[in-house]
Amino acid sequence: MISVTLPDGSIKEMASGSTPLDVAQSIGERLARDTVAARIDGKLVDATTAFTKNTNLELVTLGSADGLEVYRHSAAHLMAHAVKSLFGDEVQVTIGPAIENGFYYDFFSERHKFTPEDFDQIEKQMQELIDADLPIEREEMTRDSAISLFRDMGEDFKVELIEDLPDPTVSLYRQGDFVDLCRGPHLPSTRKIKAFKLTSVAGAYWRGNEKNAMLQRIYATAFPDRKELKSYLAKVEEAKRRDHRKLGRELDLFSFSEEAGAGLVIWHPKGALLRTLLEDFERREHLKRGYDIVMGPQILRTELWKTSGHYENYRENMYFTEVDEQSYGIKPMNCLAHMLIYKSKIRSYRDLPLRFFELGTVHRHEKSGVLHGLLRVRGFTQDDAHILCAPEQLDSEIKGVLKFVQDVMGIFGFEYELEISTRPEKSIGSDQDWERATLALMNALEGSGLPFEINEGDGAFYGPKIDIKLKDALDRKWQCATIQCDFTLPERFDLTYVGSDGNKHRPVMVHRVILGAIERFLGVLIEHYAGNFPLWLSPVQATILNVTDNQAGYAETVWEKLRAEGVRIQRDLRNEKLGYKIREAQVEKIPYMLVVGDKEKENGTIAPRHRSGKNLEPMTPEEFARFIHAECRLYN
Ligand SMILES: [Zn+2]
Ligand SMILES: [Zn+2]
Repeated sequence: MISVTLPDGSIKEMASGSTPLDVAQSIGERLARDTVAARIDGKLVDATTAFTKNTNLELVTLGSADGLEVYRHSAAHLMAHAVKSLFGDEVQVTIGPAIENGFYYDFFSERHKFTPEDFDQIEKQMQELIDADLPIEREEMTRDSAISLFRDMGEDFKVELIEDLPDPTVSLYRQGDFVDLCRGPHLPSTRKIKAFKLTSVAGAYWRGNEKNAMLQRIYATAFPDRKELKSYLAKVEEAKRRDHRKLGRELDLFSFSEEAGAGLVIWHPKGALLRTLLEDFERREHLKRGYDIVMGPQILRTELWKTSGHYENYRENMYFTEVDEQSYGIKPMNCLAHMLIYKSKIRSYRDLPLRFFELGTVHRHEKSGVLHGLLRVRGFTQDDAHILCAPEQLDSEIKGVLKFVQDVMGIFGFEYELEISTRPEKSIGSDQDWERATLALMNALEGSGLPFEINEGDGAFYGPKIDIKLKDALDRKWQCATIQCDFTLPERFDLTYVGSDGNKHRPVMVHRVILGAIERFLGVLIEHYAGNFPLWLSPVQATILNVTDNQAGYAETVWEKLRAEGVRIQRDLRNEKLGYKIREAQVEKIPYMLVVGDKEKENGTIAPRHRSGKNLEPMTPEEFARFIHAECRLYN
């Protein structure tokens, strides 16, 4: 007999040669069904691994992250198995790991090009293999026999993989007539896979190297049951529908052009207006909170970037230019000009805190592979501010920023999560500075009444920070606001103020953004609202539609009147059916459609119709303008 110790400390006496699955079975049918793998003395193994000595056992169920990964990895083998049974020698297998939300498998084929049209057939074959309830069995053999096994099967990529392995023995997993080189663990049987779906196909280089063969990667996903799979797929569909790149095109907000350069946004009239509205909002909100608006130059002499340390630490991401034999760095951050403003005169403790705010456009060289619509670009504008304060003011300043973040997230309807990152091993600044700053951040977080996580040792080398991740309507998380304390820059630039004691003191510096990059925030916002911007942020608030040519002249007067009243309005006076014009305005997601027919013309009114389909009472253009302005003042 063997003693098996479970995580709760209880001990099971099992016959030698029994398995984790047997243990699960002895506890209950349900647990046995949910068990997909096990940890024996901490090592992740198959649930069918036989015990040979006394062990500590943890059953890994489908409900855990490890369990789900094993499940998805087994689904990847299943997909490869199905592809091999359908395409045989036409296709060679390579690798197929589990990834976030699913799995993929990379195939090589010179004869067959996979397309979504193949998915149905592959899925059917996978289902047949599931129904066959094939046991998935681990096998170990010497490296040399594994090499000849895969060579005989014509699987050259597998041969190459094994040749690179240092171990004298390797493990394989077999199910029916399919065998794959694999560390495992795997599900005990194909029958365990309940819900899967192939999603897309893309090219990928063998071992990620562009000098190697081009493979075909089939992406897929698998969930413990059909219900979960269905809700995941619905979410993916919704995300596609809301994709800001698609909506950006449909709403004619922005574009990118290879001629201009990758990662550089070109704002079209409606997009530029949207952005301006957001920037105006930012200026108002900052002024309300005691910030000063400042502006720095786009390029600054390279010597200054050397003083700040950016040249040494951040050069690869910067763009440089040379004029009159003088080298300049295009700014990747806005801090430096703000420091020069601080240094432009002698500062007293009575001047503090100083809060310098700039909608600062910066350029950072990002690798072309990571560029993604508005979410990852090379030129962007931050709502950046630097607070310079006395150490004893830090506490209330951080609280103020956090309150600012809360207010703004509330206006846009975002939920969010907070994280604090503390002192890393490699860092500068005195213990006292770090303690004070970390305490100030902690206090502010605790005062906010919101839960937060601590990332021990994850702060910047120059100070601790708070990161705020917002959650959009689809529950996706985005890093936007951050609050960072900085001990280096005041030091490097020798910033001082005269204290009440008449001596010189060093101010503390806080870098902070509320929305982060305007581009990125707008990308998130477009998806969050699915393009249905609230009235105050809509680049077009209303469109005027005439029923027939008979009211074209009247519609024109109303359009001019409302424009003069500050309503953002467009007109559609084409000789088209009203229904057609309404549908177009709905595609453009314009909040109000103002219909004018003969009756409205006669009464000097308009009939507003909301994009939701709700009709308002007819009103005069003046009344409508007042209504719009009142609604916008509420910021929603
Ligand atoms: Zn595998
Ligand atoms: Zn900064």
